[in-house]
Amino acid sequence: MPPLKDPSLLRQSALVGARWVDAAGKGIAVTNPSTGAIIGHVPDLGETDAEEAIAAAQAAQRLWSARTAKDRGQVLRRWFDLMMAHQDDLAAILTAEQGKPLAEARGEIAYGASFIEWFAEEGRRAYGDIVPGHAPDKRILVLKQPIGVVAAITPWNFPNAMITRKAGPAFAAGCAMVLKPASQTPFSAIALAVLAERAGLPAGLFSVLTGSARRLGAVLTASPIVRKLTFTGSTEVGAQLYAQCAPTIKKLGLELGGNAPFIVFDDADLDAAVEGAIVAKFRNNGQTCVCANRIYVQAGVYDTFAAKLAGRLAGLKTGNGFAEGVTFGPLIDANAMAKVAEHIADATAKGARVILGGRPHALGGCFWQPTILTGVTAAMAVAREETFGPVAPLFRFETEEEVLTAANDTEFGLASYLFTRDLARVFRVSEALEYGMVGVNTGLVSTAEAPFGGVKASGLGREGSRHGLDDFMELKYLCVGGI
Ligand code: ADP
Repeated sequence: MPPLKDPSLLRQSALVGARWVDAAGKGIAVTNPSTGAIIGHVPDLGETDAEEAIAAAQAAQRLWSARTAKDRGQVLRRWFDLMMAHQDDLAAILTAEQGKPLAEARGEIAYGASFIEWFAEEGRRAYGDIVPGHAPDKRILVLKQPIGVVAAITPWNFPNAMITRKAGPAFAAGCAMVLKPASQTPFSAIALAVLAERAGLPAGLFSVLTGSARRLGAVLTASPIVRKLTFTGSTEVGAQLYAQCAPTIKKLGLELGGNAPFIVFDDADLDAAVEGAIVAKFRNNGQTCVCANRIYVQAGVYDTFAAKLAGRLAGLKTGNGFAEGVTFGPLIDANAMAKVAEHIADATAKGARVILGGRPHALGGCFWQPTILTGVTAAMAVAREETFGPVAPLFRFETEEEVLTAANDTEFGLASYLFTRDLARVFRVSEALEYGMVGVNTGLVSTAEAPFGGVKASGLGREGSRHGLDDFMELKYLCVGGI
């Protein structure tokens, strides 16, 4: 890891309310997935720490929500400015603990910061309504108010952005947040807290708890003070957390797994489709919940598409995220390697052909070769489960009807993509896809201005856009009589 310009951003402490708790060389070791080297430690906090953070959040939230939206927005704007001023250091911390190439990490910091900027502005536009009433002597007013104390549990694949797109709207709305980041990538979260403090976010409003997700998650979900849980991660854990939140009837924001179809029709601009597939499939080495998981290519262009994709991928380098010219980093851990191996073995046993990669990379460790499979069918595991790795399975199809049936044949419904130059088909297919998001002639859909989220087993709620702010607010209706 290169030396940081501001070494105080890599802090081996957690933030419990207003109190920084030092790991003091103990606790949980955080490693670099490219090298296996230990970067540092974070504290292994327990139940009483979580209770303390929740109590501090409750006290801080009352004062924070009483401030004007403009005032809150100014603090968030300073936070955004600090993130961008420290973009290089934040990116280096991110690459060290997550593995993605430094340029991609810099991109994530800018993307993550954009949520803070967007919601700093959007908080001032949390308009209510005045509704024409039902009686001459009454008036109906609808106000938006912050939900209160929010718990957030975030994953390792976007150690910065998965936090900011929850924290931005939460703080803009007037909420407090107790965050439990993934144990693989806590330093990015902690650096955000250091900068939040410098930006003037009040003490206690934002806690970053490190330790066992199960133990801390149990306290956060059981607490009656916590009024909302916002979670990004697997559908399996999301469903567990949903159940844990039932007794206290919390609001839920769940960004869960996907199984994104990527459909290339005969009439598509093939070069654009290949570039789109590289972005949609291989960004973060296939480790995003919107990654193309099933690539459906119409029969007329199937072989050409496969050859073009293989040609482009063959020229891209895999390696340590800090090395020059690297496009693909390592996978996060040995489990991720095992899943990729399993999906490829299952597909080839059932008749798929490997036309590129297919094996662990010669670099060893957690590196896997970018892989393309052809002749993939619905009977293979890659058709049903998220691979979360650099494997592009190519399914051949004949008709629009056939591909729509196949694309929707999953319990997931997060992102989907289609490439075609037929305008009528764009609308027909987009409307028929049972997904929260559709990328039309693009492999990249995420941005602060748009509502990100899924349907079916992919989750509840939306992040980003004005809808993302609403998810951290309650409606209150005033019926004013005697007029
Ligand atoms: P991933 O496959 O992305 O690691 P997980 O759903 O396993 O997805 O993890 C996402 C986040 O949820 C991580 O921060 C993890 O620590 C946390 N987590 C995992 N299991 C639990 C649990 N039982 N309770 C609360 N949080 C959990």
